[in-house]
Amino acid sequence: MMTGTLKDSYGRAIRDLRVSLTDRCNFRCFYCLPHGEPPIAPKEQMLSYEEIEYVCDIFVELGIEKLRLTGGEPMMRRDIETIIEKLSTLKAKGLLDLALTTNGYFLPDRAAGLKEAGLDRITISLDSLKRDTFKQMTGVDVLDRVLAGIEAAKQAGLQPIKINAVIVRGHNEDEVADFAAFAREHDVKMRFIEFMPLDSGHDWSRDDVVSGREILERISERYPLTPLNLARGSETSTRYRFADGAPGEIGIIAPVTEAFCGACSRIRLTADGQIRTCLFSTVEHSLRDVIRGGATRSEIIEYIEGVVMKKEPRHYINDPTFVAPSRSMSFIGG
Ligand code: SAM
Repeated sequence: MMTGTLKDSYGRAIRDLRVSLTDRCNFRCFYCLPHGEPPIAPKEQMLSYEEIEYVCDIFVELGIEKLRLTGGEPMMRRDIETIIEKLSTLKAKGLLDLALTTNGYFLPDRAAGLKEAGLDRITISLDSLKRDTFKQMTGVDVLDRVLAGIEAAKQAGLQPIKINAVIVRGHNEDEVADFAAFAREHDVKMRFIEFMPLDSGHDWSRDDVVSGREILERISERYPLTPLNLARGSETSTRYRFADGAPGEIGIIAPVTEAFCGACSRIRLTADGQIRTCLFSTVEHSLRDVIRGGATRSEIIEYIEGVVMKKEPRHYINDPTFVAPSRSMSFIGG
């Protein structure tokens, strides 16, 4: 199957599209959407599943190989199984990987259905293994349910399962090695993410960031690690296995202290149909208006190619002039 290659003006090939299915969420993570700000997009401005299917078909024709569904909480979208079913047919056209990022709340009942619909892989967020800290960080007292969701995803065969934990100073940095123990026990890929300035409350401070290096040191004190000798390519994480051969894997995602923009292959589509060329973009490009305005397929392709050429060379978190995007992670699609 012949697919094109979307390239930006710095020669980076764009292979990875993150599609936000909704900007609504049932959690209130303090580092993202603490007060449950009202959704930005009224329903009629959200892309329908037919529109999502149509634009993803075009993106795959343009060389997108990985589709990750996210949000908000993507499982709050009632038609998610249908969306997955439709998108999984793109594997015949060059799509290699169809994944989902979720808070895990709905998985105990629905993991098997996601697999049946054609989902390949799943990433589940889990910020604490302690009930009180989990509640304090996410705003909801549902640790047991999320743990049951992880188990259900495993039973459904959505492996390899990735678990994401955002590590924030004074909240959960004391649990880093415990998370590593969890990875060993449950044979999951545990990924630690530095806290980024993408919180709707704009309370982010550099002092709250626990660096990737510190995370690595905290794990290595208890469990020596061996770097996985893989070409990192456009991956967000640096990966390690346990030196003693135990199951599980560790990934460190350090966009603040060790930016990886030079190899970025990602663009994003918000639930209301805006293309974002960087997590930290301050401008968006309305693909929704283009498709609803009656553009032909080739006009849409031309528009997308033009937008991708505007992809920023890097993020500016560490520059004194940095301005955080007005949308939080839940509105952008993490
Ligand atoms: N609701 C789903 C979930 O919980 O995974 C998907 C959307 S959520 C915005 C995607 C990921 O972004 C989660 O792993 C979340 O922890 C992470 N995230 C949100 N805000 C963040 C921030 N300010 N810094 C780092 N990671 C963040």
